[in-house]
Amino acid sequence: MAGLLERYKNYFPITEKTPLKTLGEGGTPLVKLHKIGKELGIELYGKYEGANPTGSFKDRGMVLAMAKAAEEGAKAVICASTGNTSASAAAYAARFGLKCYVLLPAGKVALGKLSQALVYGAKVISIRGNFDRALELAKGASEEMGLAIVNSVNPYRLWGQRSGAWEICEELGFPPDWMVLPVGNAGNITAYWAGFVQYKNKGKIKSVPKMVGIQAEGASPLVSGKSCPNPETVATAIRIGRPVNGKKATWAVRVSGGFFSSVSDEEILQAQKELASKEGVFAEPASCAPLAGLKRAKRDGKLPKDIAVVMVLTGNGLKDPQAILSRQEEICEIDGDEAQLREVLMR
Ligand SMILES: *Cc1c(COP(=O)(O)O)cnc(C)c1O
Repeated sequence: MAGLLERYKNYFPITEKTPLKTLGEGGTPLVKLHKIGKELGIELYGKYEGANPTGSFKDRGMVLAMAKAAEEGAKAVICASTGNTSASAAAYAARFGLKCYVLLPAGKVALGKLSQALVYGAKVISIRGNFDRALELAKGASEEMGLAIVNSVNPYRLWGQRSGAWEICEELGFPPDWMVLPVGNAGNITAYWAGFVQYKNKGKIKSVPKMVGIQAEGASPLVSGKSCPNPETVATAIRIGRPVNGKKATWAVRVSGGFFSSVSDEEILQAQKELASKEGVFAEPASCAPLAGLKRAKRDGKLPKDIAVVMVLTGNGLKDPQAILSRQEEICEIDGDEAQLREVLMR
């Protein structure tokens, strides 16, 4: 399949000089979640972004941000990251032949993501501090040293991420009633909204879905309306206290008629287990906040019946095996012995 830049050339700010490279990003599966949808009384889909080349939706924005950085003559890029941005930036920097610096909050990055940044050849710098501090440092360094910043403050990142909304409209043939996303820096929810608006303005769809943003209770500045100085959650991808796109996202959610809500770590991990064991879909903890949010909305009587809902399953479950392993029942170990095996199978 052609890459995103090629496929959506007419919808992106692309010129003859933009290098249209690709790692095969986008075109991810829209999986119908029959069982869980039935339990919730809705038509439910998961947009499985873990199928992107580096295992998260970040690739949709990164391919455009990197192409524009290359077009503008940048030699190096920089980003702060809770993990997935660094994996994606490192891969696309390698693809486009740019140098890549990533700043990570020390000790708070899932193992899969960290190993990606390293193997793709980025210069990894661990910051004793949280993501919000790392982003301030990255912004300062980008201005001082003329490095292209590829966080979601980069407008091309968000523009590239609109493509997820377009694919959903094309596949369903209509926009869903609700679009539910996990919210960290609030870039993706803003990007999806802008994507639906762009399609509506082009006459390709008639309405924009209600945008619903789910945060973790320990990192929920957009629910409380106050920044959160010490964000904490098992869903490290959304462990962010001061979302850089918070204002835009708040606007998007409000005009679409949607809302923000928060869920506990326990609810997130339960949703993760449910998605994997009932539907065969393994997504990382942050990606499962939307399902936890829908279950809560159902319990609170806020989920209308029979609506079409799409959740963005933002990252691959394999990114963060530690989050889930600690919660599984112990693995049964036996000798290489038929009788023992028979005994276990009959239990
Ligand atoms: C980046 C990320 C998010 C949060 O997206 P924002 O645009 O920062 O709101 C959610 N889930 C995963 C897996 C991510 O990598």
